[in-house]
Amino acid sequence: MRCSACPQPAIVDAPYRGGHLCEAHLRASVEERFRREMHRQLPRFGRGTVAVALSGGKDSSVALALAHRYFARRPTVRLVAVSVDEGIDGYRAATLAAAARLTDSLGVEHTIVRSEQALRTTTDRVARELGGVPPCSFCGVFRRQMLNRAAREAGADAVVLGFNLDDLAQTVLMNLVHGDLDRLVRMAPHRRRQPGLVPRIAPLAAVPEREVYLYARCAGLPFDHGECPHAARAQRNLFRTIVWELEEAQPGTRQALLRTHERLVERWLAAEDGGAPGRCRGCGEPSSGELCRSCEFLRLARPPVPPEVPA
Ligand code: SF4
Ligand SMILES: [Zn+2]
Ligand SMILES: [Zn+2]
Repeated sequence: MRCSACPQPAIVDAPYRGGHLCEAHLRASVEERFRREMHRQLPRFGRGTVAVALSGGKDSSVALALAHRYFARRPTVRLVAVSVDEGIDGYRAATLAAAARLTDSLGVEHTIVRSEQALRTTTDRVARELGGVPPCSFCGVFRRQMLNRAAREAGADAVVLGFNLDDLAQTVLMNLVHGDLDRLVRMAPHRRRQPGLVPRIAPLAAVPEREVYLYARCAGLPFDHGECPHAARAQRNLFRTIVWELEEAQPGTRQALLRTHERLVERWLAAEDGGAPGRCRGCGEPSSGELCRSCEFLRLARPPVPPEVPA
């Protein structure tokens, strides 16, 4: 199989765009798609701070390397990497070590937020306390909140997430299947600022997971291949299979799911009065309910201690 743009052997088949790409053209194409999405999702941004959520896996490592490249000629933009240590034995230490290798090699400032300190608990511990609840449901909520707080404290104007085309298509489908329109319109990439919430953007939105992986390999980026021990219980696994089968049968399904999301958000923004989220009465973070979802999970795992009754 030859590259559709040159005589070199192709390393990836991209039926959704009707062609194949060699290593050099894959790299150029991923860089171009990232650049275009940055322009679209963070327009006219020439001064300020951008935080990159860095787990040490392939997606966020590519997002950081490409953001570093993108802002290289803009000294007025400060780039910081933020990692979250959720407290997952046998997994997170290796990904954080890979994250540190990458930030060292790029010379990017790196902050690690630890759940043990920020929430006084860990994903492993809450998973034991809430045995029947799939760990990803609270782990994702905790991580988003810690990331938002760290980005806000770093003075960030936006947070870059490593979500690729497959991740986003799966999330759109999950929210549609659950009938969760609120979560669907609130998912990244964000179009507007809300008090206390640093907008999250996803500049790898046009790049399929496989191409992100190949880019990381071809660019020689350090990243960890490990899988979280809780991942087998993730609901997302089912949606990964469904989206993959749909894409095989009908190339372009993932892009169509993302377009559906964009159109819904446009209509929602046009119809909404821009109502800002309130504050959680437990922790003060932005929340659409009285308690944020993080506090709800923490209270389930660790109910408030009743006051002592004097003897
Ligand atoms: S797979 Fe689930 S539990 Fe593991 S780090 Fe990701 S969200 Fe957390
Ligand atoms: Zn080529
Ligand atoms: Zn809260």
